[in-house]
Amino acid sequence: MLSFSDDVRASTKVDQCPVCEGGDFYMRKDFDPKVGVTVIVIAALISAGFYFYGQDLIAYGVLGGAALIDLFIYSRLKDLTVCYRCHAEFRGSFEHSAPPFDLHTADELEPEYERKVGKR
Ligand SMILES: [Zn+2]
Repeated sequence: MLSFSDDVRASTKVDQCPVCEGGDFYMRKDFDPKVGVTVIVIAALISAGFYFYGQDLIAYGVLGGAALIDLFIYSRLKDLTVCYRCHAEFRGSFEHSAPPFDLHTADELEPEYERKVGKR
């Protein structure tokens, strides 16, 4: 049973998690690690080709370019609000005002939620 608070429904901000009813969130970048890895793998293959033919500088240039592309992708990422307890992710145009991830908070809240849902 999902319960959406008025703010969540109106998509203005996330103040209560509709999944576990928790009120603690952190913010991170909406980054898919697969994208970054794919860029690096493709660049490494191209680079290996240049390297094979003795074009070392071009090979390094390709790798450097790939690192820049990854940086560019990262800088354009949108913010993602994540629930500490159940890891539900909230994307949207609402105001992402949660603080960055805090390991100490996660250590306290995750076991609490897991006990509640009976995982432990
Ligand atoms: Zn939650």
